[in-house]
Amino acid sequence: MKTVDEIIRSRRRSIGIQVKDDGRVIVRAPLRMPDQAIQDTINKYRNWIIAKRKQVEERRKAVPAETFNEGDLFYFLGNKYPLVFLHDLPADIVFDNAFYTASAPPVFVRKRLEAWYRKTARNVINAKVNALAAAFELKHHAVKINSANQRWGSCTCKGTLNFPWRLIMCPEPILDYIIAHEMAHLKQMNHSKRFWDTVGIMSPDYIKCNKWLTDNSHLFSHF
Ligand SMILES: [Zn+2]
Repeated sequence: MKTVDEIIRSRRRSIGIQVKDDGRVIVRAPLRMPDQAIQDTINKYRNWIIAKRKQVEERRKAVPAETFNEGDLFYFLGNKYPLVFLHDLPADIVFDNAFYTASAPPVFVRKRLEAWYRKTARNVINAKVNALAAAFELKHHAVKINSANQRWGSCTCKGTLNFPWRLIMCPEPILDYIIAHEMAHLKQMNHSKRFWDTVGIMSPDYIKCNKWLTDNSHLFSHF
């Protein structure tokens, strides 16, 4: 089994090793760092990487996969709600402290749920983006909702804010932090100290939120 899946060089000053929720190991290195120096660092941390990957895999196995049958639990804004089958509903999914839908094979139920998450994410996230834009005089180009699974948001240099529909599974303070983080990139397209100072003004608890994401984002990665 190889130790590292990908080495990404960029304009950064130090080397960093990250074990993603899906178990992939990413090494980020400065542009001009010699290959040998990167390899030496990987060798030095080999045991740590293997232990960390094992931990990530065990954590993932501990979360049961959804079957999209009645009684399955699904997250919305940090809380879990059961799936309940009911006929003659006015919409594909009706949410009222439970996800109500007509009985159907799992593949259809999954599609309906994803459509509901997408639509709800679009409404909730748009409202929050507009409120932050007004409060902090930020100009964005567009908001897009995507299916990303390992990434909680991004901001393009044109000012397009991308968020995965899964984001509205997270507790609201986390959702607010992710939106603030991406909108802070409208001012600073990097992760410099000035960037984090801007995030800190918009989302004072950002350090706690980052820690929460490291510990919990595996809860939302399958579906
Ligand atoms: Zn960022």
